[in-house]
Amino acid sequence: MTPEEFRKRGHEIIDWLADYHAKISDYPVQPATQPGDVKAMLPVSPPVDAEGFDEIIADLDSVVLPNISHWQHPRFFGYFPSNSLGSGILGDLVCSGLGVLGLSWQSSPAVTEIEEVTVDWFRQMVGLSSAWFGVINDTASTSTLVALLCAREKSTGFSLVRQGLQAELKPLTIYTSASAHSSVEKAALLAGFGRENVRMVDIDGNFAMRPEALEDAIIADIHAGLKPCAIVAAVGGTATVSIDPVSEIAAIARKHGLWLHIDAAMAGNAMILPELRWMWEGIEEGADSVVINAHKWLGVPFDCSLYFVRDEPHLLRVMSADPSFLQSQADEKVRNLRNTGIPLGRRFRALKLWFAIREQGVSGLQARLRRDISLAQDLRSKVEATPGWEVVAPVVLQTVCIVNRPKSVPSHRLDDFTRAWAHSVNASGQAYVTPAIAAGHWMVRVSIGTICTEASDIEAVWRTIQEVATALVPEFS
Ligand code: PLP
Repeated sequence: MTPEEFRKRGHEIIDWLADYHAKISDYPVQPATQPGDVKAMLPVSPPVDAEGFDEIIADLDSVVLPNISHWQHPRFFGYFPSNSLGSGILGDLVCSGLGVLGLSWQSSPAVTEIEEVTVDWFRQMVGLSSAWFGVINDTASTSTLVALLCAREKSTGFSLVRQGLQAELKPLTIYTSASAHSSVEKAALLAGFGRENVRMVDIDGNFAMRPEALEDAIIADIHAGLKPCAIVAAVGGTATVSIDPVSEIAAIARKHGLWLHIDAAMAGNAMILPELRWMWEGIEEGADSVVINAHKWLGVPFDCSLYFVRDEPHLLRVMSADPSFLQSQADEKVRNLRNTGIPLGRRFRALKLWFAIREQGVSGLQARLRRDISLAQDLRSKVEATPGWEVVAPVVLQTVCIVNRPKSVPSHRLDDFTRAWAHSVNASGQAYVTPAIAAGHWMVRVSIGTICTEASDIEAVWRTIQEVATALVPEFS
């Protein structure tokens, strides 16, 4: 592609994307695609000769659009908001277009320095003190894995320079809760702790970790000859957006010398609202690391996970690799961000965050999050005011967890009924919601936060939910 062809096709693609966003609400939120449908539309072998770009663009309409879930749709209420601001999309495009890699400061200085500055802006936005140092990773799963690797090395006095965990005399233990995201257990397993050494601490009626149960578990492990290593607390647990009591957990972490990692993957974005910072009170006193995904809710396109630590030298010591071909004369004066994480190469992810913060301003971002929180409260009121319907967890941010208990549906069939109506909502194409288990039973999460969601969309999803559930009652009675 010559630069002129690139310009022409680039304009076409931007037009295509702009049209898509303009008419997105005309699509069913979830496609009716069956497994294998998409593969059946594609040749099994690559084209030997070049295809025209017109054909490639045509396939976006015929192959791609009919077979994607529309995450940016105003009635997408699934999983968590992974919303994409226009400015963020353009920042991501520039990242690919420049095609630079941050292997080291020298390999592209602006990659490092714009990331340093933008991440520090973000730190200020969420109210963390200047004691924190942050970097951008791909996902929260990676950030949590890095946190547990750092915890492991702190607890073992750098076992990685000896024989690693294999030579440790006492098994190391990790503490989290049933409300934590699956990435926590996965990170613990990948970091070599072993499933038998991961404790799922009891939760309370609001799905938050019980500090007394945490301390009991730590003490029991010490008595059993084990070595408690790290706690992962959730500020915004996945199913219900539960808030673990950070302050009390931090005090326990300090008392027993454990690493405390805060998984605030989605809810951390809400810390740009000063009125909500009570949610992680105690973080300054006792936490060692925290992850916040700007690609969840803030509006920065996937992927953009901010990972903050207090002890930058420790992070560097665990993660550094300095082969000769990556060394430069600038090394003494700069940060080489490869030494803060797992991959060597870094994308210029800071660009999309930088674009989004500048284009929206902090006040613009705050206004949208407040809008979503208020929409969630509207939905909560509607559900609570409707006989037979219940909100099963506190609505602290933008997620409303609901169940329907019609009198004629026996309790042993409620779980199946709940999953069935969630499935029906999604199959209708009118809206998309996510069923999940909380306190041993199925409920349905309505997760608000797409950029173009309005009050009328909340009314629409609530209408759809009631209609499909009512239609299914006879089948489960
Ligand atoms: N932690 C929490 C609380 C989450 O909600 C999620 C994703 O839903 C994750 C971690 C994992 O995020 P990622 O996809 O960035 O690894």
